[in-house]
Amino acid sequence: MSEFAFDILVSGGGVAGLTAAAVFGSAGLSVLCVDPDPPVTERDAKGSDLRTTAFLQPARQLLEFAGLWSKLAPHAAPLQIMRIVDAGGPEPEPRLTKDFDAGDISDLPFGWNLPNWLLRREMVARLDELPNVEFRPGTGFTSLFTREAGARVGLSDGSRIQVRLVIAADGRNSPVRKACEIPVKTTRYGQKALAFAVTHPIPHNNVSTEIHRSGGPFTLVPLPDYQGLPSAAVVWMERGPEVARLAGLKTPAFEAAMSARSCGLFGPLTLASRRTVWPIISQIAERMYGERVALIAEAAHVVPPIGAQGLNMSLSDLRCLLDLAQSAPDRLGGKEMLETYHRRRHSEVMARVAGVDLLNRASMIESQPMRDLRAAGLGAIYSLAPVRKAMMQLGLGARG
Ligand SMILES: Cc1cc2nc3c(=O)[nH]c(=O)nc-3n(C[C@H](O)[C@H](O)[C@H](O)COP(=O)(O)OP(=O)(O)OC[C@H]3O[C@@H](n4cnc5c(N)ncnc54)[C@H](O)[C@@H]3O)c2cc1C
Repeated sequence: MSEFAFDILVSGGGVAGLTAAAVFGSAGLSVLCVDPDPPVTERDAKGSDLRTTAFLQPARQLLEFAGLWSKLAPHAAPLQIMRIVDAGGPEPEPRLTKDFDAGDISDLPFGWNLPNWLLRREMVARLDELPNVEFRPGTGFTSLFTREAGARVGLSDGSRIQVRLVIAADGRNSPVRKACEIPVKTTRYGQKALAFAVTHPIPHNNVSTEIHRSGGPFTLVPLPDYQGLPSAAVVWMERGPEVARLAGLKTPAFEAAMSARSCGLFGPLTLASRRTVWPIISQIAERMYGERVALIAEAAHVVPPIGAQGLNMSLSDLRCLLDLAQSAPDRLGGKEMLETYHRRRHSEVMARVAGVDLLNRASMIESQPMRDLRAAGLGAIYSLAPVRKAMMQLGLGARG
């Protein structure tokens, strides 16, 4: 395998894969990124991804390096305060509210929130600027043959490409991971998430609000104003059958249900997009690498959407791979690089998957005494300033 067509093949053009292509392209490596599904880059088009991503503080430097931040910043809503509301009493009303303020630990907001469809639009535009990056939408990964010296990848357009490193960013059912026969451990919660946008009369003032009762959190993350009104992205997690019921409600009934679940904190909520449904699982790959292959993002780890950990963990994967590629460019994709990648990332990923799993289980609790215990726990953590600050830094990824 002497003739490499590209340094890196990125399998998957979701948010993680497009970011990977922009990062390594900006580092001067030649990159081919493939995805069988062309990206949907308009908010109201069929199949658009109405989730949003809260990029936490450490993400910004990597996005700047990749030439993405200047394109994204004008559309980003800053997250200054994370408000946790316990509404787990007998009545659906707030009984404990705690504000975690980014100002307690730094001069910057916790992060910035952006819609996923817009991320795809701006990321594809960035790839177009990079002469050493080719994005081939409509073409998928089909087969993998590796040797110690390189990888040969078969694609659905019939081509075979020789590369030094394959980055698997092809999602939770990653075909590349399957081709490497890397097992995963999956936890199912019987839970789903509804993701959609709302407008509301009471401004959010850059506060992200997570309301806990039972079934899972109801989270409103600030978005820039929409059609002249304050707007937020909502993730509403409940047991599967309840999500199916909610997804099928007519708009007025759904608006009444979500306004009640939000405890009226922002006034009556108005639905401002389609409703989309996402299955919730935790999953972790046994290894984050195979021969000439690095697994990143949901190909390596999936967590419930709590605390904005999912994509931010994926950016840490990328930061680690970039450091290794830059410190020893001649060893790109080699055994030593990939073993080091696994060693540096896997234990941290396992800890975060376990942490988010715990938070999700606490949020799902039905029994009243356990819900009371949960509220007491939140109050106790909050009242100890050093513990509160350490939790915030941990959430940001500033502490391992
Ligand atoms: C409701 C919800 C809210 C979330 N909010 C946040 C948040 O605020 N902050 C955060 O950090 N994370 C958040 N996450 C997690 C985040 O959305 C995911 O981590 C991220 O979108 C996953 O990206 P991905 O690129 O790994 O996977 P995907 O988006 O699934 O992309 C995988 C891509 O691989 C492609 N593919 C499939 N087969 C092939 C093939 N054969 N060849 C090539 N490509 C292939 C697919 O077409 C797809 O485009 C949230 C998740 C959910 C469910």
